[in-house]
Amino acid sequence: MNATRADRVVQLGFETAWFIDGAWADGSSESNIDIQDPSTGEVIAALPRAGAEEALKCVEGAERAFRHWSRTSAIERAAVLQKVEALLRSHREALAQLTVLEQGMPIEAARANVDYAASFFRWFAEEARRIYGYSVPQPDPRRRIHVDYFPRGVAGVITPWNAPLASPAKKVAAALAAGCTVVLKPSELTPISALALAWIVSEAGAPPGAFNVVGGDAPAIGRVLTRHPAVRTISFTGSLRAGRRLYSSASRYIKHVALELGGNAPFIIFDDADLGRAVENLVRLKQANSGQICVTANRVYIEATIFSQVEKQLVESYGGLKLGDGFASGVEQGPLISASAVNRVAGLVEEASQGGARVLCGGRSSDLGPNFYPPTVVSKPFSRARILSEEIFGPVLTLLPFENEEEAIASANETDARLAAYAYTTNASRLHRLRRELQFGVVGLNDPRPIGCESPFGGVGCSGIGREGGREGLLDFMDVRTVGEYA
Ligand code: ADP
Repeated sequence: MNATRADRVVQLGFETAWFIDGAWADGSSESNIDIQDPSTGEVIAALPRAGAEEALKCVEGAERAFRHWSRTSAIERAAVLQKVEALLRSHREALAQLTVLEQGMPIEAARANVDYAASFFRWFAEEARRIYGYSVPQPDPRRRIHVDYFPRGVAGVITPWNAPLASPAKKVAAALAAGCTVVLKPSELTPISALALAWIVSEAGAPPGAFNVVGGDAPAIGRVLTRHPAVRTISFTGSLRAGRRLYSSASRYIKHVALELGGNAPFIIFDDADLGRAVENLVRLKQANSGQICVTANRVYIEATIFSQVEKQLVESYGGLKLGDGFASGVEQGPLISASAVNRVAGLVEEASQGGARVLCGGRSSDLGPNFYPPTVVSKPFSRARILSEEIFGPVLTLLPFENEEEAIASANETDARLAAYAYTTNASRLHRLRRELQFGVVGLNDPRPIGCESPFGGVGCSGIGREGGREGLLDFMDVRTVGEYA
């Protein structure tokens, strides 16, 4: 093992063990899960493969902590969340390095991810104080009706590997602000940042049991979370397949479920757009996390009159990104999470190519290692190619020409995975129509990043239910109680 890389794992005060009811606990299992550095394939840490037994301890701890935490004042919870924000910021560099190590993204992007995670703790610290109920005037003057919001109970949070710190942070900050306690199951591929977050939340003064982290046997842990009566909300980010399974299992116990299941984002460039800006924004959007983010552009629609020109610019700009180890200076795109992710992406490109698409750059394995795949531009795939209907989740730009606005909008909307959509134009009335007609949860009009802690984020259709961030982010963790008082 490369000591200088692996040493970064233990810079902070957490242990490489699960965090259960306020203590670092080894699993009872004989077997371990190895955490690999996606750039080098080296094992950087090992954690015991925990299962139902440990998950149950987490839920019981969270249930005990809920009795106290749910009754704290908003200002008390806000103070803990503000401290979490401060600690995330003061450990920014170490946390960013952990993200590079376990996830692979370039260090600059990892730093931005720490800032992003911290912003949610700040936002929800502020929002905790604004959980206002209201009173409703009644026909009978002797009756008063009050509408109150209450924390729902223990939240079961399940997160993926693409944003090992920010993905848990978004959900955990909202849950704790609402007065819920949390059992987090991070991805087994990238659990270390979640352990660092557990340490920080505990240092910030959250009581034992308020935030637990456990992983290993995902289905067994998922079963405990979806079945235990104390868990009232399941908040999940990941694949449609796993989301469906959890939704179905939670339905038996009538749990509230929030799902963020990924997208198939269109990116439309009209011929009246500021082309320099559209190309630059698209390349930055696609570069982020090697295309492994659910809001990245999956299908790029370019007006036929400017197709060749934009195609050329994209090949130059996107194809020229520097690929490499996230710690190396000047690297703009890191590895994919695993060799099987590379094979999946390569398979989509191969199928499009065999069906007649032109692969204008990339599209081949990299001598940097089995997890690297270069920025690739695929032009004009056939209409039923899987690269258009599946979430690519890799560094591939897929380009398609269109003739007019109506066709562009209809093609853009041709998906069930309606998380994000983008369009670039300088025509004001067209912008107005796009705002109405693009049927997605998040729409960027000349805007490559219409997301942040202040606004609700989530999909429509098969892309999910519920929202992270914004005022709405708290609602996934709260019940509404109507209280009548009769004089
Ligand atoms: P991805 O393709 O992004 O890894 P997954 O949906 O497979 O998406 O994984 C997202 C998260 O869901 C991970 O933490 C994974 O361990 C977890 N997960 C997958 N299947 C289940 C399940 N049946 N029960 C609980 N968690 C699950």
